[in-house]
Amino acid sequence: MYDYLIVGAGLSGAIFAYEANKRGKKVKVIDKREHIGGNIYCQSIEGINVHKYGAHIFHTSNKKVWDYVNQFAEFNNYINSPIANYQGHLYNLPFNMNTFYALWGTKDTPTKSRTKIS
Ligand SMILES: Cc1cc2nc3c(=O)[nH]c(=O)nc-3n(C[C@H](O)[C@H](O)[C@H](O)COP(=O)(O)OP(=O)(O)OC[C@H]3O[C@@H](n4cnc5c(N)ncnc54)[C@H](O)[C@@H]3O)c2cc1C
Repeated sequence: MYDYLIVGAGLSGAIFAYEANKRGKKVKVIDKREHIGGNIYCQSIEGINVHKYGAHIFHTSNKKVWDYVNQFAEFNNYINSPIANYQGHLYNLPFNMNTFYALWGTKDTPTKSRTKIS
């Protein structure tokens, strides 16, 4: 007999199960997918962790949260610096002043822009 049946082994279900179990509750977790982790699941392909459902980055400025998640896994330091290739040119994402300069020649203010947007 279970105290809780948890549908979904993603972050929400997994954390709920973990915390309930710590408090003496008997839980059963089910998932329609063949793996745990929900959308943050990583598949190991030739020794490389591939984010199956899209890249996930964990960020928090809350030490309590950081200490909590570190009990489950060791985290890598990661800097996200995506770029877009548009018509053979590389642009920074998300948009910043460098992107505006690369696209439209915008300097530090819109009035100094090389091109006019009508
Ligand atoms: C592409 C992408 C990128 C993201 N990037 C970030 C990021 O960088 N940083 C960040 O903090 N968050 C990110 N998120 C958000 C993050 O993925 C979610 O906030 C988090 O995974 C939600 O966890 P969850 O447990 O609520 O849901 P999910 O991870 O969706 O887990 C739900 C689980 O329930 C199962 N389920 C659903 N219905 C049923 C059913 N009827 N029967 C059985 N099982 C069922 C599903 O199969 C799934 O495994 C991103 C999301 C996506 C899609």
